[in-house]
Amino acid sequence: MAQGSIKKADLGKLIEAVRRDGRFFGPIDQGDGACLAEVTPDAVLKLDYANFTLPPKRMFFPRSEVIATHEASGMAAVPVQEGQVVLFGVRPCDALALTYLDKVFVDKQFTDPYYRSRRERTLVISLACREPAATCFCTSVHGAPDGRAGADILAVEVGEALVLESLTKAGEAFMTHHAKLFASPTPAQRTACDAQASEAAKKVSAVPIDGLKAKLSGCAENAGVWDDIAERCLACGVCTYLCPTCHCFGLYDEQVGQTMRRVRAQDACTFPTFTQEASGHNPRTRHGMRMRQRVMHKFCYATENFGDIFCVGCGRCVASCPAHLDIRETITEVSQ
Ligand code: SF4
Ligand code: SF4
Repeated sequence: MAQGSIKKADLGKLIEAVRRDGRFFGPIDQGDGACLAEVTPDAVLKLDYANFTLPPKRMFFPRSEVIATHEASGMAAVPVQEGQVVLFGVRPCDALALTYLDKVFVDKQFTDPYYRSRRERTLVISLACREPAATCFCTSVHGAPDGRAGADILAVEVGEALVLESLTKAGEAFMTHHAKLFASPTPAQRTACDAQASEAAKKVSAVPIDGLKAKLSGCAENAGVWDDIAERCLACGVCTYLCPTCHCFGLYDEQVGQTMRRVRAQDACTFPTFTQEASGHNPRTRHGMRMRQRVMHKFCYATENFGDIFCVGCGRCVASCPAHLDIRETITEVSQ
């Protein structure tokens, strides 16, 4: 494990060093909150943000992408991109979400080459949370403001410095490669890191998760509570597009000039056509059935298939739902 500290004012030197042979993405203010964007020489990093508006999953699993083209000469897969990418400022909940996406896309049986190549070439530097938002509940779902899962390096803000700790071999190699930019963290800085994490954890809201799977499983598809909740939902899909763990997608072909393109696009379980079959039959006719699917997939099916709840408590769906639906209230309502 490598450790180091760097003044925030010197982050530009690290960015410059990375940009010599790769791309560096970090928190940039794009007018509507912090966005994980490529850092150019004139960009100013924004460090006072609760979380990115859009989750980092889009760096690995874009909202839509062309994965193959088909011309007269035959079908060709779109080549995967190469070169190192560094993501700086990923919040620990979103880094944890990447470990869940790994289980889906880099499975023993099926591996998605596009997702895997992006994961392999990307170094994730997460930034511990100091001021969680009122909508955060990471500590109820296996997370923490200084959680380590899914990141290669954890950075913690201590005054005017960042204290970094490598968590993987790739993280250690990165810190060794850039060792001249780092000083040794002082004992006072290490103590401050721990104190900050425990203070931040106290500010995170708590959600009762114990026994949730059994309670939800006992709530049948025709139970009225699903329709009651769905009645308030606009089926806009915002919650799924912004969720760092939602990963459902559809494949379709489109013609552009003389070329056929196969496109993979994210899908949302609240959309009426989500499970519509080619025959026109849709096994989930009622909105309540689709709302149930969203909740059950995250809190029941994911634990059965992958051993984890596929919610990291980032709170994006709570903060962004135009109908003010709150997943914390939904699971409480259904449990009762
Ligand atoms: S963001 Fe809200 S209104 Fe939109 S689909 Fe999700 S729960 Fe429904
Ligand atoms: S369900 Fe909501 S709170 Fe949970 S990970 Fe997805 S967006 Fe975040």
